[in-house]
Amino acid sequence: MERPDRIIQGMAVDGHFRVIAAQTTTAVETAREILDLAPVAADALGRAMTGALLLARLLDKDVRNQFVSLRFEGNGPLGTVIGDGSVAGNVRGYVANPVPTDPMLDVESAIGNGSLTVVRGTPPAGKPYTSQILIAGTGIATDLTRYLMRSEQIASAVLLGVYNRRDGVAAAGGMIIQAFPHAPEEAIRTIETRVKNAPSFSTLLATMPIEEAVSTVLEGTEYKQIDAGQEQPVAYACTCTRERALAPLTLLSLDELHEMIAEGGTEIICQFCGRRYVFGEDDLFALTAKHEA
Ligand SMILES: [Zn+2]
Repeated sequence: MERPDRIIQGMAVDGHFRVIAAQTTTAVETAREILDLAPVAADALGRAMTGALLLARLLDKDVRNQFVSLRFEGNGPLGTVIGDGSVAGNVRGYVANPVPTDPMLDVESAIGNGSLTVVRGTPPAGKPYTSQILIAGTGIATDLTRYLMRSEQIASAVLLGVYNRRDGVAAAGGMIIQAFPHAPEEAIRTIETRVKNAPSFSTLLATMPIEEAVSTVLEGTEYKQIDAGQEQPVAYACTCTRERALAPLTLLSLDELHEMIAEGGTEIICQFCGRRYVFGEDDLFALTAKHEA
């Protein structure tokens, strides 16, 4: 039975810890189908997409349209990996090289060493907030823990996972456990021990609802789900528009535009969702007019 993707929230150890968890199985499987991802690419992108969704919710200050974009630029064979998520539960992703030649690679070496850029904002208002950390092949969950500590002064544990089967993504999801500043040392050690010894989160998600998976990881920590009626549905959704697809063409020279017109037009394919935007002679003529103005 398919269970719908969603984000849930809870508290643990007398309210000293906030827990946000997401099931993203269908969204990651959708990404795999649209972007033709090899298993290791689906694993990396699924973690990045889930991480973006969790961060958007974690850093939310009652802004319903906040988004978080995670851009991993490593020297591994996947190249750039981008996960975008919003508080509203929309998520999308992109992998530069979705089929690396070595099928046995793990996610850490598939991404490699480089940088992680985190962008968050609340369109249309305000300028997005951007920060960057170096990454050294320690895994996306560890990268996000370091980002949260360094850029947001949030102490946290992050779990992310994708469970691949031969025919696709069987389960994907993750959770962030945020320690509030007054959390006692002993409680932090209890949570750390639970997280370290818990079964893999995506394996749990493959066999039980997310509510039970989170309870299993946090067994013995008085975990309680809050706002059970307010869970946020999650879906793979792209924000591309014809206008945004046209934007890169406005940077072309007059000669390049005339060349495209001679070829009868051009098309732009969205790298996140595969949607095709066709621009004919009339559209391109309109752009040349701007050059002459
Ligand atoms: Zn798109």
